[in-house]
Amino acid sequence: MALEDLNLQIYGCKKCRLWLGAKHGVPGEGPLNAKVMLVGQNPGADEDEIGRPFVGRAGKFLIKVLAESGIKREDVFITNIVKHVSPQNRKPYPDEVAACVPYLNTQISVIKPKIIVLLGASAKHTPRLEGIEYIEVIHPSAAMRFNNMRDKFNKQIGELEKRMAKLTLEK
Ligand code: SF4
Repeated sequence: MALEDLNLQIYGCKKCRLWLGAKHGVPGEGPLNAKVMLVGQNPGADEDEIGRPFVGRAGKFLIKVLAESGIKREDVFITNIVKHVSPQNRKPYPDEVAACVPYLNTQISVIKPKIIVLLGASAKHTPRLEGIEYIEVIHPSAAMRFNNMRDKFNKQIGELEKRMAKLTLEK
């Protein structure tokens, strides 16, 4: 399936209750041949406003830390485990994740990333497939708020950059 068609499905989706409080579905974005996919929890208020992922404070923080490690936003595919904002930015409920995760499955099968970076606890529900390396990191919103987590997060992203450099050599 083309991602444009998948995006249209997401914009019109009513498979769980989250669409009720949302202005926009936020499918995610990035190159179709991205070697790395980043999966967060859910779009926040800023993302809901304009329909793009990781454009709010935590997203900008993530993009800044990635850039400091030489990883460009436009080189990775960024998305979330659920595609609509949640009330008060709460964690998605299991039934919401279950309803939404087939969209993520399709994105993974189209993009075929080598590495999937799981941002925070909710992203751990991302399906695990053979041939893909999964890297768990702290959610950027927590790393942004707490210094001790920020240091760990910076190190985790540094490790990701090293892994990506190795991928380039393996080509
Ligand atoms: S969060 Fe996912 S399953 Fe729920 S309405 Fe939005 S697109 Fe559909």
